[in-house]
Parts: sequence; structure tokens; C-alpha cells
Amino acid sequence: MKIRADEISSIIQSQIEEFDSEVEVKEVGTVISIGDGIARVYGLDKAMAGELVEFPDGTRGMILNLEEDNVGVALFGSGVAVKEGDQVKRTERIMEVPVGEAVLGRVISPIGDPLDGKGPVATDQFSRLEVIAPGIVDRKSVHQSMLTGLKAIDALVPIGRGQRELIIGDRQTGKTAIAIDTIISQKGEDVQCVYVAIGQKNSTVAQVTQKLAEFGAMEYTTVVAASASDPAPLQFIAPYAGVAMAEYFAKKGKHVLIIYDDLSKQAVAYRQLSLLLRRPPGREAYPGDIFNVHSRLLERACKLSDKLGAGSITALPIIETQASDVSAYIPTNVISITDGQIFLETELFNSGVRPAINVGISVSRVGGAAQAKAMKSVAGTLKGDLAQFREMQAFAQFGSDLDEATQRQLARGERLVAVLNQAQYVPMKMEEQVISIFAVANGYCDAIEPGQIPEFEIGLRNHIETNYADIAKTIAAEKILSDDTTAKLNSALDEFSKEFAN
Ligand code: ATP
Ligand code: MG
Repeated sequence: MKIRADEISSIIQSQIEEFDSEVEVKEVGTVISIGDGIARVYGLDKAMAGELVEFPDGTRGMILNLEEDNVGVALFGSGVAVKEGDQVKRTERIMEVPVGEAVLGRVISPIGDPLDGKGPVATDQFSRLEVIAPGIVDRKSVHQSMLTGLKAIDALVPIGRGQRELIIGDRQTGKTAIAIDTIISQKGEDVQCVYVAIGQKNSTVAQVTQKLAEFGAMEYTTVVAASASDPAPLQFIAPYAGVAMAEYFAKKGKHVLIIYDDLSKQAVAYRQLSLLLRRPPGREAYPGDIFNVHSRLLERACKLSDKLGAGSITALPIIETQASDVSAYIPTNVISITDGQIFLETELFNSGVRPAINVGISVSRVGGAAQAKAMKSVAGTLKGDLAQFREMQAFAQFGSDLDEATQRQLARGERLVAVLNQAQYVPMKMEEQVISIFAVANGYCDAIEPGQIPEFEIGLRNHIETNYADIAKTIAAEKILSDDTTAKLNSALDEFSKEFAN
């Protein structure tokens, strides 16, 4: 082959033209101190707050402190191999997590690493950990219901899509149980769920995941886990990672349910991180911006406007209290950020009320607008009746002989409390809940023992399913309890309660 001289000169010419005179400069810093999962790095002058950096052993970290001559980096790993003098590479990327359909059905760490042995998350979409929450114009009022499937909640503290409802209580009061039942209850509702486990035992997270899989709920659920043995920075970013994944779906007009289990442990992780970064401690040694940590997280739960697709993120943060002290720092903060609280009590739990909700002090400030009218009509008087019952009960402890009216009211109250009890993993549909509560509130259970109510409920459901299927269907479709349906329900109940008594 012959190459002509002018060809050679043109190749050389084009190479000269294409020669990029700019030298690629990658900013590299040096570790000046390392310990307790925090590295101080010198020489990263252009680094951004929240930027991801890499250490020679592959450990990643996030820049949290920007100081005059160094930056403070929180490590997402043990960092045992990182030593003074090591080089630190900037990635020039603010912390991101994988998002998309591919995260459904997966158990992943807050930085997107698989924890379920199913390989990397197959997505090419990433989203920033921290984004600014939608503003006022981007939102609209909560108006659709997010059923938990639990009678005590759906009747008395109804939750709407886009709401933030706090679940608060001491340890072992059934907080997680409510969250899991709510996820299971979303089956077939086209709601995507994210369960963020923070600072829990790995075995507990495994149990939860297994239960979700058992009830077919993993198909539409992502579990983001930073366990108690994970470094504090991972526990701190876990909720942000979860909500970033939720936002992907909400932006597409879908409804998302996100659970933060629990934010007290996240606060503790953040406190640890802040103290190690030498930020000044405030009340209970938490850093001054702990309120902001929780508010900027919870503000991201919202009901989006029609223009933005009308999607929603409903958040159920969980807070663990010590000896029911809701006036501690973190509980008061989160109470003030959320749209209502579900208070769980050890005393109620131990006396057999499950879910152990204190209905007297539990509230939902916005969910009422989203509650079905049928439910509203049966639940309307329930809260007052229960409050009256509790008062009377306290009073009745002193006197022995009570008049008949009081006795009747006490008996009814006991049965109302009993019907709000519910076992785990059996979420009920709205119409089923309405029928059960209707039966008790209208005295159809006055003649039977409170302990027999679960049996009565199951029998009633079967009876209606086989003989009066249209009652449940009509309530589900119309969402109201029309005179016609009420009459039918009354006659069905008359029939069934006679049958049950025999
Ligand atoms: P922790 O503080 O350890 O996270 P928690 O408040 O999340 O506890 P759960 O783990 O949900 O509480 O529940 C504590 C125990 O109570 C569990 O063994 C659970 O199975 C049981 N439990 C919760 N709710 C119910 C219920 N409605 N009926 C029967 N048992 C329940
Ligand atoms: Mg729990």
C-alpha cells in the first residue's frame, strides 16, 4: 500500500488540530487524620458539600464539613484500610442513589448496594439524595385515602395520600406491625412502597422482608436497610435514599407509601456523626440542625398538583419514646413536623389492646377529608363513645352498684374496644371495616362476650359474602352508607346475630 505524502500531512494536521492542549486535572486530596469513621482531608479546595469521594481501598465517603483548610468526610464503610497520607479522589458528583422500577422487590443499602444477593440494581437512573421539597404551588390538598387496613386507624385516625402521620410509642408496642400491615394492605391498590429500616438488627430486617414476601408485598416494595452494625453515615442517609426512590414514582403520577423505621435511630446516628465532626452539641447533645434534618426529609412527602401528575408520597415516620416521654427533644420535633400522630402505649399493649393505640390522644389533622363517607358515618360517634367509656370505666372502679343505663354503656364500650382489636397480617378492606364497626356500634354484639367478637366478625363476613354479597360491593362502590344499604345491612345483621346466638 502506498501512502501519498499529502495524505500523511493531512493526518498529522488533523492530529495537531484535535490535540487537546488542556491537561486533565483531577483534584486529589490527602488524608490528614482518620478515626471513628471520619476523615479529615487536605487539598480538596473545590469540593462541594454532599459530594462523594473515593479512598484508595474503594471505600466511599461523603463530604459533610467544609472548613478553611480541610474537609470532613464521613465514611460509608469501616475504613480500616484508610490511613493518614492516603490520596482521596473527588467524584464531582453529589451523593446519588439508583432509582427506577428496578428497585422494586429489592433489599438495598442506602448507597444502592444489593443486600439480597440478587446482584446490582439494574438501572441507569440516579437521583440526588437531597433535593428541595416541592413548593406550595406544586402541591394540592390531600383528598384520597391511604387505607392501613386496620380498623382502629382507618376509622379514628384516617390517613390520606400525601400525608405524614407519625407512629410513636415505646419499644415493643407494635409500631413496626402497623407499618407492615399498611404495606400488605396496599396489595392491588397500585401503590409503591418503600420501607426504610434504620439502626435495626439485621435479623429483624430479614424477618420483615420475609413477611412482606410471604404476603406477596415485595413485588411493589423496596427495602432500604442500614442496620445497627452499619456506620452512622449510612444510617443517617438511609431515609433520604428511600425518599429519593419514592420521588421517582411520585413524579410519574403514582402513589407511594414510605415508612421510616425509625427516625430516633437516625437522629442518634446524626448526633454521633456531628459530634465526631466537632459540630457544637445542643439540647440532649443533638446538633442544632437536627430539626432541619427531619423537616427537610418529611417535607418531601406530599400530594402533587394535577399539573405535576397528581402523584403522592405518604410518609409514616416512626419514633421510639423512652417511658412514653413524648416531650423529649426528638419526639416533640417530629410531632410538630407531621400532620398527626398515632400514639401506642405499653399499658394498652399488655392489657391486650392491639394495635395498642391510645385513641384519645391520637389525631390525624388532614386525613378526614380523605375518609370514605361510609366510614365517616359509622366512625363519627365512635371517638366520643370511646372517650365516654374510658371516663365511665375509671369512675366505675369506685362504685359497685351501677344503674342499668351505665352498665349498658360500659358493656357497649367494652365491645367497641374489642372490635377495634385486630391481629397482625389481616388487613381489612374499607367495606369490611364498616360492616364490623356498624354491627357493634348498633348493638348487635351487646349480647355476646367481648372475647367472642373476632369469631362474630369472621362469621358475619362469611354470612354477608355468601348471602348478601351486594351489600359489601355497594359500600365499596358508592363509598356511602345509603338508607337502602343500611336497611339491608340491618336485616342481614338481625338474621346473623340470631344464628350466632344459637
Ligand atoms: P421495637 O421497638 O422493637 O421496634 P415495635 O414497637 O416495632 O418494637 P413490633 O415489633 O411491631 O413492635 O411488635 C412487637 C410484638 O408485638 C411483636 O412480637 C408483634 O408480633 C406483636 N404484635 C404487634 N401488633 C400485634 C397485633 N395487632 N396483634 C398481635 N400481636 C401483635
Ligand atoms: Mg419496630
